Amino acid sequence: RHLPGESGPPRQPRPVHGACWSDAPPTPVAAPALLAWSDELAATLGLAPPDDAAAVADVLAGNRLLPGMRPIAACYGGHQFGQWAGQLGDGRAIVLGDLVAPDGQRWEIQLKGAGLTPYSRRADGRAVLRSSLREFVCSEAMHHLGVPTTRALALVGSGEPVLRDMFYDGRPAAEPGAIVTRAAPSFVRFGNFEIFAARSDHERLRLLADYVIDHYFPEIGGGGPARYAAWFAEVARRTARLMAHWLRVGFVHGVMNTDNLSILGLTIDYGPFGWLDVFDPDFTPNTTDQGGRYAYAQQPAVAQWNLLRLAEALLPLVERPQLLEAGLSGYGDAFEREWGRQARAKIGLADAAGDADDTLVAALFGLLPLTEVDTTLFFGALAEVDPSRLPETGLPPALAPAFYAPEALPAAFIDGLRDWLSAYAARLRSDGVSDAGRRACMAAANPRVIPRNYLLQEAIDAAAGGDLAPLARLLAAIRAPYGERPEHAGFTARRPEWARHAPGCAALSCSS
Ligand code: AMP
Ligand code: MG
Ligand code: MG
Repeated sequence: RHLPGESGPPRQPRPVHGACWSDAPPTPVAAPALLAWSDELAATLGLAPPDDAAAVADVLAGNRLLPGMRPIAACYGGHQFGQWAGQLGDGRAIVLGDLVAPDGQRWEIQLKGAGLTPYSRRADGRAVLRSSLREFVCSEAMHHLGVPTTRALALVGSGEPVLRDMFYDGRPAAEPGAIVTRAAPSFVRFGNFEIFAARSDHERLRLLADYVIDHYFPEIGGGGPARYAAWFAEVARRTARLMAHWLRVGFVHGVMNTDNLSILGLTIDYGPFGWLDVFDPDFTPNTTDQGGRYAYAQQPAVAQWNLLRLAEALLPLVERPQLLEAGLSGYGDAFEREWGRQARAKIGLADAAGDADDTLVAALFGLLPLTEVDTTLFFGALAEVDPSRLPETGLPPALAPAFYAPEALPAAFIDGLRDWLSAYAARLRSDGVSDAGRRACMAAANPRVIPRNYLLQEAIDAAAGGDLAPLARLLAAIRAPYGERPEHAGFTARRPEWARHAPGCAALSCSS
């Protein structure tokens, strides 16, 4: 099959054997233009501000390699939607090389959308402005929300059209292309191990495991199978912590395939992700995910399923499955602990808690789906409420902005929440939690601004028309997501009604 504009013999996907990675030079683009840049990450990496934007765009579009760069694409496999999918690999991501930051930390610098690689299979190696901008903004947002994530350094327009099936109508349309520069200590995923296990390539499996442990988990001591088991247990703990963070900030990844789970416990591969506007445990932003496999509340269980696939892949290294079982059961414990801590912080209970607090938290999350509650606004508003002074009837007026239908709240919701607020007040009294302490705790756990899909779409539409101001405003807001900040102006409202079903604002497809 040919891609538009391609000539020569048709490309045929085929396996790359005996390799952790392949050389993959980027394919130059027509007109690179620097659209966004992260000063903070640049400073961390020891890079100067981009005085010569054109020269920076040239390099970060893949048009020019600097001395020392050696572009490569990684070989990995993965389970997609529960099925083993075989070899996938970096089909449009190209690592330019490692960079040692002033603090000694080693970072991989990667271009996403920089052209075909040996792993592109039948696709084009490119990315559209829409998806690259979403990745740039959301990885910045995640970092500032305190959630482990790959980072983004730059967003570069390619000046070339990319053909995609736009949104729902399925007709291919030309969209502007863009390349995002990502950075992470490592982009290794669960799938990098799975591919070698699937091929019984135990030599490379061990090589990669040793490399990852030596470089990224140097604190893990011992040797032999116990060392691999201790490392797996740490991967499980980090994954558990990540899931708790996602639930806390209302993030839905959308495509939690095993090739999209980082071995470092980072949020990786921003595709058809979304954020909870209305609190709905079953929400998935991914139109391809009809069954809701990757819905908001499913994420911790799916991560565990993915860890099982990783454990299976690592079996040849430990021989006895029992060695990995401790890591798997540790996942459940770590998730309970982390989510318990973060969820309690969402209602201002910072202290070590008993089961009663977990019941209190669970009761609140059980009530929220009874009406359309804006997740982010609700927890912001709850901090403003004095639960010991309930009105005679109804709910405290401070909560009203969080409801999508404040005039039509079901009685069961009103009664349930009144009862809950009374129990909450009693809990706060019994513990002598000061109101200032409660509010400070809640302010640190509950973001005021998240990059909701409709906000991203507004920034995308403007950027596609050449106006980068909305993107800059959104970036300023999400770079300081906690507390009340002047940068938040215009970003703290409920999702407007028009955005409920608008293209790009509600749900997205994988095609990007
Ligand atoms: P994802 O669903 O984004 O995790 O992608 C799954 C696989 O498809 C990965 O191997 C990607 O590298 C590959 N892929 C996605 N989009 C493209 C594209 N436009 N060109 C080449 N490979 C792609
Ligand atoms: Mg991926
Ligand atoms: Mg992707």
